[in-house]
Amino acid sequence: MDRAISLNCPNCGANLNITSEMETFACGFCGSRQIVQRHGGTISLKLLGDAIARVQVGTDRTAAELAVRRLREELASTELELQEFESNVAYREANAAGCGTIGCLFFLGWFVTAALASTNNPVLVLISFVATFVICIITAAQISSNRKTLRKTATEGRQDIHARKAMIESELREELQLLTNHRN
Ligand SMILES: [Zn+2]
Repeated sequence: MDRAISLNCPNCGANLNITSEMETFACGFCGSRQIVQRHGGTISLKLLGDAIARVQVGTDRTAAELAVRRLREELASTELELQEFESNVAYREANAAGCGTIGCLFFLGWFVTAALASTNNPVLVLISFVATFVICIITAAQISSNRKTLRKTATEGRQDIHARKAMIESELREELQLLTNHRN
């Protein structure tokens, strides 16, 4: 019976019994191929090429798994940001005064015109009548311009968030692909 020496697997750390006639072997726990190195009285284990590659893969795997977790969190927060953005846009659009404001101005002008009509001064009635229409048209133009600006800002903001989301998704796909490759 050969004298066996106990060493730890350099890949998985499992306890291995090395006998004197062993040159190369595969770890019974992780399967990594190893070479037994004897220098004078010391014996050590060295991983062979594919095992080194496997250790490297293990490092890449951990990095990829961490990246996947981080990217999923980023994706979730970007989706939340998009939701908040859309509800904010909807709120601002609902608040952008439209027909109601113009209607109020028109009726106010109509009341003033009617009140002036009782004074029997046709010039004042005419001025009030024209002013009502001019104010309504200017207000309508202003509201339309505000809405256009709002829509433009919303489109740009939306594109920006979607672009960032697409970038995270593409990074995530790459990392997941990396993990799939390592599994095979
Ligand atoms: Zn091992």
